[in-house]
Amino acid sequence: MAEQSESLNPYDMALQHFDAAADLLQLDEPIRERMRLPERELIVHFPVKMRTGRIRTFTGYRVQHSTARGPAKGGIRYHPDVTLDEVRALASWMTYKCATVKIPFGGGKGGVVCNPKELDIHELESLTRRFTSEISLFIGPDRDIPAPDVYTNSRTMAWMVDTYSMHRGFYSPGVVTGKPLAVGGSEGRTDATARGCVIVIAEAARRMGLKLKDARVVIQGFGNAGSVAARLMHDEYDAKVVAVSDSQGAIFCRDGLDPHRVIEHKERTGSVVGYAGAEGLSPDELLALECEILIPAALENVITTEVARKTRARIIAEAANGPTVPAADEILSDKGVCVLPDILANAGGVTVSYFEWVQNNQGYYWKESDVNARLKEIMVDAFDQVDLTAKRHKVSLRRAAYILAVGRVAEAHSWLGIYP
Ligand code: NAD
Repeated sequence: MAEQSESLNPYDMALQHFDAAADLLQLDEPIRERMRLPERELIVHFPVKMRTGRIRTFTGYRVQHSTARGPAKGGIRYHPDVTLDEVRALASWMTYKCATVKIPFGGGKGGVVCNPKELDIHELESLTRRFTSEISLFIGPDRDIPAPDVYTNSRTMAWMVDTYSMHRGFYSPGVVTGKPLAVGGSEGRTDATARGCVIVIAEAARRMGLKLKDARVVIQGFGNAGSVAARLMHDEYDAKVVAVSDSQGAIFCRDGLDPHRVIEHKERTGSVVGYAGAEGLSPDELLALECEILIPAALENVITTEVARKTRARIIAEAANGPTVPAADEILSDKGVCVLPDILANAGGVTVSYFEWVQNNQGYYWKESDVNARLKEIMVDAFDQVDLTAKRHKVSLRRAAYILAVGRVAEAHSWLGIYP
């Protein structure tokens, strides 16, 4: 049988997953057409004064894929490879992620084409404030709520809150999530993406009869999602994190790394590379290592058909968005690898972002134990429903998550009808 093409355009990838679910659901053509395209797209080109006095022009995007189930919600990415199609894909994944875990948000995403590693803190602040101004008519606590993504963080979010609040003339912390605690952030938000991911790993492992104690874990990407996943797998499940990587390279230790010390090393030196007591290996070797759990936690298009053929993992938990190309899914399924799809596996971040937004709206703040308990309830329930749907339709967990999510968004559209 001819192999499915290995499309690397993230929006094509997103549409392939959507179409497969829409076919199974026999979705009405007009609703299907609406859901295939984003509702709104904003492209901005804006100037920033650099440290040297030179003015540079940057390009940024904000895409709202859907507001059928609630305000658009999704992160802002700073990366040289950001494209409109990538932002469109990420926005649609947000729509389906929020629907998978049944939180009342739609999907959005933003990005600025830049290399944040080349910018100093003042330039980053100027870029963030100007980009926020450019998109300020588009965003808002009941419209579209950004959050951190690759190479943005709580520092970035605090600048966004301040800029947006200055424009509106009043303090408006609910415009973004992932803020520092001091300006309306939520307890537990920093760990939330990884915590949600390890909760679904634990559920899947339990059903497969796989013990997490001493299970070998390999993690690609050592930022917010990856480094916290390493810490939680080590501290809370006694798993053995044998290899991790970042954009500079990968490290391996057969007896297991101490994630706390690797985090300290990365904070000090800027990379996991050079950590004492571990050997270096290539990014390709990392993805082919013998392990029980592989967590891609960096960017898209990492699990290609070639990686799928080579992987020796039993569970692949997608902390990153879109790490697996559609053609690789079939190979993984034939090999019996359990793939925990991104719209389920990394939904812990947006779930606690939802809690943060609720707390901002209420002006009443929760304890970390309450946040974590509510997160666990939502993730376990979502895993159960996805697993049940997979068994009922005899499909993969990814297809099942899309069946549930696309069905929920389509149901909202059919109730809302067409305006006017
Ligand atoms: P981050 O900026 O904190 O970390 C990104 C990490 O990836 C860094 O360690 C970087 O060095 C590494 N990286 C970049 N290119 C790499 C490469 N080629 N090989 C190996 N490592 C590489 O970003 P993050 O917030 O942790 O996001 C990571 C992924 O998780 C993204 O796909 C993001 O969309 C997804 N995600 C994040 C959140 C969140 O709350 N932060 C929520 C859901 C999904």
